[in-house]
Amino acid sequence: MNQDQKNKIIEEITKIFSGQLSVLELIGVVYGIKPTMAEMINFNKFDKALIKKLNKINYLCKKLSLHFVVSTKKFIINSPLGIFEMVDFDDPRKGKIAVGISKSKEDALEGVNLYYKKTLTDKGNRDFGRIMGYPECCLDFGDYLCENSKGDKDYDPNNFGFANPAVESLKRSKNFAWQCNVFTESPLSYYPCSLDCQKSIDYVNKLVKILKKVNEHHYKFLINYLKKPVSLYWTCADRILLYGDFKGDFEKAELKYDRLESRLDSIEFYQQNDMKLIKELNRVKGFIEKGNKIIMRPNYFEIFKNNKKLFKFKKENKYIPILVKPNK
Ligand SMILES: [Zn+2]
Repeated sequence: MNQDQKNKIIEEITKIFSGQLSVLELIGVVYGIKPTMAEMINFNKFDKALIKKLNKINYLCKKLSLHFVVSTKKFIINSPLGIFEMVDFDDPRKGKIAVGISKSKEDALEGVNLYYKKTLTDKGNRDFGRIMGYPECCLDFGDYLCENSKGDKDYDPNNFGFANPAVESLKRSKNFAWQCNVFTESPLSYYPCSLDCQKSIDYVNKLVKILKKVNEHHYKFLINYLKKPVSLYWTCADRILLYGDFKGDFEKAELKYDRLESRLDSIEFYQQNDMKLIKELNRVKGFIEKGNKIIMRPNYFEIFKNNKKLFKFKKENKYIPILVKPNK
């Protein structure tokens, strides 16, 4: 099979669940840049329509000489309790199905199996990462996150009780490369050991080069997200992207903006939410929509319209929220 044919099938597969299966991950597996991918797909009912879609992916994966496997359980992810439940398919609640794709059937199965374990327990996290082909330096960082997060007062309740991994990466970084932009639309399926991790940069460079051939429109879209916006970031599911003139670093920054894009996604991402937090985030968004400048400091941030202060928000944790943009 030539490259064009491969690329067409990659496109076809990722369209089946409207982008829930990552095109970058699939490129990685098809082109041998990573051994295995595993992901969660939202679904309501395990019905004929869903089975038809899964069968279609299975058929297309076979054409690419890949194995496609599916979990035998439904997963329910609740915030802020950090509950990650595994239930039967006929459970009436909304949930997710785990899928794995690899050249090796064993690895695809193991990926799906560990997806559950790595989220519910610390064990299995490193095994999962190794099967997915994550760099050693970042696997070590994953261990650090597991060992240091539980019971920490800085823990992020919206991240299964772990410390905010994007912020932990940031704390270790002198520079912030666009390839490691975990604050907008991360091209990585793991958290890099720093925002300047060379192995992760090389990996993303390889993927986007192929993405350009698979779907140039998607490529431009992604590169724009990685390089251009400033992210006002709370958690892996909640951030507001702002476009404009950014000065400073994450401790002390000023941003004049003329456009924003809300990515407050907890409602879709989790099956249950802390409504107080959601309400607060929407309140911030309301002020940002009215304003055109943000000043960020360790203990507070302020929103202005021209030079009129609209609101001052206190921060309990200097890293939440933060205002960040790649500097290289
Ligand atoms: Zn690394």
